[in-house]
Amino acid sequence: MSFTIKTREEIEKIKAANQVIARLYADILPSKIVPGVSTNELNTIIEEYIISQGGTPATIGVGGPSNAYPAGSCLSVNEAVVHGVPNERILEEGDIISVDTVVELDGFYGDSAFTFPVGEIDEESKRLLEVTKKSLEIGIEECYAGNRLGDLGNAIESYVKKNKFTVVRDFCGHGVGYSMHEDPMVMNFGRKGRGIKLEEGMVIAIEPMVNAGSYKVGILKDGWTAVTRDGKRSAHFEHSVAIVDGKPVVLSKLDR
Ligand code: MG
Repeated sequence: MSFTIKTREEIEKIKAANQVIARLYADILPSKIVPGVSTNELNTIIEEYIISQGGTPATIGVGGPSNAYPAGSCLSVNEAVVHGVPNERILEEGDIISVDTVVELDGFYGDSAFTFPVGEIDEESKRLLEVTKKSLEIGIEECYAGNRLGDLGNAIESYVKKNKFTVVRDFCGHGVGYSMHEDPMVMNFGRKGRGIKLEEGMVIAIEPMVNAGSYKVGILKDGWTAVTRDGKRSAHFEHSVAIVDGKPVVLSKLDR
């Protein structure tokens, strides 16, 4: 498996694409994700915002002509893990919704996901969101030059296990920047000291998906939406992270 090294200038462009997503999640969506809104309506808001910022919602058409992804965002509600296709589903008080967006801006790609609560959520869901978000932070801390992807995956998995949740194994993070999915694959589990060695100038999307019950997932008839097999809830957080001066820099964290 190979991977690319980005220059400082390229990393700035990847950051600019990610900042569109950061603003979307911080400034636009929190007031829109409320009981009564459909995921179709949210997707329209997301696509229009990205275009208003000069970007392109890059998930549209992914998968090729036979199974083209139809929307500019992935909106995964409750038991949906990732790749939730927007539809007529109406959000209800107490739901959780993972929003995953890829933006192309000026030829470079940013990728970030955030799971939002809909109104007031139960204690177990709150804990699921907190543990998943924290597992991403733990993964980011491991993203430094000289460390290995196995160390990163192991740190995420160990933390999730300790908190009695499970890490999804069928999907993973990835290199990002020149395109939406690049090598290497960034697993959310692994063995210490194994895997690719991280290097200066790498940019990877780290994206733990954490289930409240079993790690097992299936795909719905729409060909995309991944759901937990046991119907329990799943959360997902993702950041695009560059290695600069040997250390992790989160490109998708809002930078005002
Ligand atoms: Mg991703």
